[in-house]
Amino acid sequence: MTYKIAVIPGDGIGPEVMDETVKVLDCVAKKFGLDFHYTYLKAGGCAYDEYGDPLPDVTLETALKCDVVMLGAVGGPKWDELPVDKRPEKALLGLRKSLGLFANLRPAVLFPQLADACPLKEEITKNGLDILVVRELTGGIYFGKRATEGDVAYDTMTYSVKEIERITHVAMKAAMMRSKRVCSVDKANILDSSRLWRKTVKEVAKEYPEIQLDHMYVDNASMQLIRKPSQFDVIVTGNMFGDILSDEAAMLTGSIGMLPSASLGEGNIGMYEPVHGSAPDIAGRNIANPLATIKSAAMMLRYSFGLEDAAKAVEEAVSKTLDQGFRTADIAGRERNIVSTKEMGDAVARNI
Ligand code: NAD
Repeated sequence: MTYKIAVIPGDGIGPEVMDETVKVLDCVAKKFGLDFHYTYLKAGGCAYDEYGDPLPDVTLETALKCDVVMLGAVGGPKWDELPVDKRPEKALLGLRKSLGLFANLRPAVLFPQLADACPLKEEITKNGLDILVVRELTGGIYFGKRATEGDVAYDTMTYSVKEIERITHVAMKAAMMRSKRVCSVDKANILDSSRLWRKTVKEVAKEYPEIQLDHMYVDNASMQLIRKPSQFDVIVTGNMFGDILSDEAAMLTGSIGMLPSASLGEGNIGMYEPVHGSAPDIAGRNIANPLATIKSAAMMLRYSFGLEDAAKAVEEAVSKTLDQGFRTADIAGRERNIVSTKEMGDAVARNI
């Protein structure tokens, strides 16, 4: 079977971190006898330069024919003055919308090797930290009716049963591959949309009798993430709460250069990208951390291709690389063995 991967390196450090990720995937293919077929496409500022459009038709049409999309990052100061519909970020929104990506998965894992990058006290994180935030991406208050009328403005938070059901299924399935615990976060003591959220999540959970389901109000959840993050495994929540909580969880792990993400739609389609942007301040210097993008590829192997062993092999190779003391500058801490983007990619590839 051939896995068709649309590769969109993008701008800034995007191409640098993507090169290392493809290098690692090539080793995975060899080790597990897999066939990855890469189609390189342009999106973002570089596509604007070539086509006058950050998301040219050829990119979108070709991406839609592939099984998944891997993206580096888009944007940079060169394109900051463009009108909104020409800006590189439009490519991201266009891809998410066209691929119907309604679920955003952001794991926050604190590697013991990088424990000193965590802003919490050591005793709070001594049991490790491995949380997956599953955020609804295309509904809720960011997409509801809004208006400003005179000196009054409003935004509307709307959720339908169907929207809640499908994101809950994503969370439950993800939890089945982990420690089978889901915490649904809402504000059901105040909001009608949250009461529907809680009721629907409970209904869907009946299909997953092995899962232990808890519910938490968002204000408490934001506090518990700091007080005792190890109590969480999978958190499922709406668009705005997820936006805030996933950033909070991410911060517990130290560097943005370590954080992968997956955006999923119906079926197995998905877009995999690091959480960070194009980092124009360090672009072209071979110093960016490629691990977030490499870990995004591990998520692709797991969630879109169902290749759990291959996904684990990538994650274990990353962990072993850190054990061996390899550090890019952003995660160097007290380590002196600072390596380049390429050296980090080479080390992970060797460890596969
Ligand atoms: P950024 O994530 O690009 O950079 C923030 C800081 O983190 C910078 O100091 C950068 O050097 C550092 N950093 C980021 N990734 C790193 C890595 N892999 N290794 C080491 N250090 C890393 O955010 P920003 O500076 O706010 O945005 C820069 C550009 O990226 C903007 O044009 C923005 O619109 C765009 N952006 C794109 C995406 C995306 O493509 N998904 C996401 C966020 C921002």
